[in-house]
Amino acid sequence: MIRVGIGYDSHRFGPGRPLVLGGVTIPYTLGLIGHSDADAVSHALTDAILGAAAMGDIGRLFPDTDPAYADADSIPLLIEAHRRVQEGGWTLQQCDITVITQAPKLAPHVPAMQACLAEALGVTEGAVSLKAKTNEGMGFIGRGEGIAVMAVATLRPR
Ligand code: MG
Repeated sequence: MIRVGIGYDSHRFGPGRPLVLGGVTIPYTLGLIGHSDADAVSHALTDAILGAAAMGDIGRLFPDTDPAYADADSIPLLIEAHRRVQEGGWTLQQCDITVITQAPKLAPHVPAMQACLAEALGVTEGAVSLKAKTNEGMGFIGRGEGIAVMAVATLRPR
């Protein structure tokens, strides 16, 4: 039996913040605004993994009203969510992530993001797929106002 989970996240770009995606700080003039480090890749992936186990979502586990998560590194939150899913009797098989942003170009950073996420999840880099694309200039993403991320994860029983 295989279980599939889907995750989505979006954050607005703003000045004076680092751009952190998949646990990697990416050089850019703008960062993402959020209660935590606003790592939309980690957030979407966390939701996909939790979703496959029907164990809620990142906002339920780590409420953004909790000061403990102000500017929090999202990788430990991903690790904790994954730990709970494992405790629930599931093993992560693979995940696939699509980042949609007009800028910056993410292709040079994809291997580092994959390596960081694979290490956090204790899986091989081949189990973490990450792709980046633009939105062809359309909408809020096309205007460079924000970023969106979609993720899918599959679990099998332990
Ligand atoms: Mg988020």
